[in-house]
Amino acid sequence: MKNKVIKEIGLGAGIGILGFLVWKGYDVLPLVFMIGFFAAIYFFAESRGLIRPVGLQEVGGKGPAGVIFNDIGGQDSAIKELKEALDFIKNYEQIKKLGIRPLKGILLTGPPGTGKTLLAKAAATYTDAVFIATSGSEFIEMYAGVGAQRVRRLFKTARETAAKQNKNNAIIFIDEIDVLGGRRGQHSGHMEYDQTLNQLLVEMDGMKTDDSVKILLVAATNRADMLDPALMRPGRFDRHVKVDLPCKEGREQILQIHTRNKPIAKDVRLKDIARETFGFSGAHLESLANEAAIYAFREGEKEIKPHHFKEAIDKVIMGEKLDKRPNADELKRVAVHETGHALVSEMFRPGSVSTLTISPRGNALGYMRQTPEDDTYLYTKEYLENQICIMLAGALAEELILNSRSTGASNDFEQAVHLAKKIVFAGMSSLGIISEDSLPQGKMHDEITRILQEQENRVRETIEPYKEKIIRAVNVLLEEERLTGSDFRKLVLARENNELVSVSG
Ligand code: ATP
Repeated sequence: MKNKVIKEIGLGAGIGILGFLVWKGYDVLPLVFMIGFFAAIYFFAESRGLIRPVGLQEVGGKGPAGVIFNDIGGQDSAIKELKEALDFIKNYEQIKKLGIRPLKGILLTGPPGTGKTLLAKAAATYTDAVFIATSGSEFIEMYAGVGAQRVRRLFKTARETAAKQNKNNAIIFIDEIDVLGGRRGQHSGHMEYDQTLNQLLVEMDGMKTDDSVKILLVAATNRADMLDPALMRPGRFDRHVKVDLPCKEGREQILQIHTRNKPIAKDVRLKDIARETFGFSGAHLESLANEAAIYAFREGEKEIKPHHFKEAIDKVIMGEKLDKRPNADELKRVAVHETGHALVSEMFRPGSVSTLTISPRGNALGYMRQTPEDDTYLYTKEYLENQICIMLAGALAEELILNSRSTGASNDFEQAVHLAKKIVFAGMSSLGIISEDSLPQGKMHDEITRILQEQENRVRETIEPYKEKIIRAVNVLLEEERLTGSDFRKLVLARENNELVSVSG
């Protein structure tokens, strides 16, 4: 902002002086050419990164951008590991006495949106360091030498900024380090990538304990396997912190953080929302809280209610609601299809249906969402077979009620095949333990077909006695557009939630 004002004053003054000289009768043409010449050099140098400050710069510590570890949910073990490493920097005098070499680099690895950038910012606050952030892609240019030049400037900027702010520490955060730190020798066209990485290694080797400004490099990647071994060797990025997707308790913590500034109704249970959002990252959960608030605002509500959160979960998973309206026949088919999924889901895992709807969202004309029972990381053969049945149930319900299938099931079949492959490769099929590489395609095809056919028969037997009830649920769904899991259970199975009252054909 300050720079912009200075530029504007300079430009105004320059034009004023030129105007004055013209008024006085001087020939200003050579001066204009000269200014043009220097401007061209400036823009050229800027485009090659020779004068551009690298990346975004933010100040940690007590500034408004200061993030603290308490702002990060569901990453307790990553925070603990990171804090242990950062304590070396905080207790610098002690580690110096013991002759411990300084920590140079910390690598944060994990899926997108899990809070790696937040952790780096909180690390800057924790160590009272200036925080300079950039991304691997900032260093990659067509021109040879530019990336290396930018690496040098990055370290220089960090030292200068810390000195200006009278701080002893600086944290440089490089997001997507795999872009610049990939294995050398892989980029055949030119050596630009390799030169940039070499420069980074040189800068890291030059970091010493007795530097007046001590720099810590924090890098983040989703692809640690792509990094050059030279980056990973001891003395460089020798601390690796895993930043995984949050577990159920972690998701609840993150939801608490992101609803702190929002008025939520008393009957909203963040625990239940956390249960329904298996696989969500911190970024997903932040978006979920925000979307729920938007739905409440659209309805003119003063508080965010449970149904706003349910809608928001659907939005984050499936995308925005679409205006396209299928015709009446298609709508009926979608309702039959989703009811089929929901029925089999309830039969195999009572209480598992969270929502079913026939309003189009994202790529789907309708959908049925299950509530994961608990965070699950290992699957048994029985679980996978049941999931295959749920996938196939949409098409088989169409067949039962409408006497034909449709293309709406192709995505379900893809997922069913994927699950069947999981059974085969985990050695749980009739082929026994097999090697993925040496299994002939024909044999694999036969086994997958056998698994799918077996499950198809199971689904047929399961849903046939429920024909009338499916039709009843379809009619209600067509009227209401959306049913909650408990509405569905009451309607089709005469039971609420997990309690089985009666299941009859
Ligand atoms: P990427 O790998 O895509 O760069 P990232 O892991 O660096 O992602 P962040 O940029 O730190 O993710 O997170 C994005 C946003 O998601 C944050 O600004 C925050 O709102 C939210 N978020 C992510 N993880 C968490 C978390 N653990 N606790 C609280 N909020 C989180």
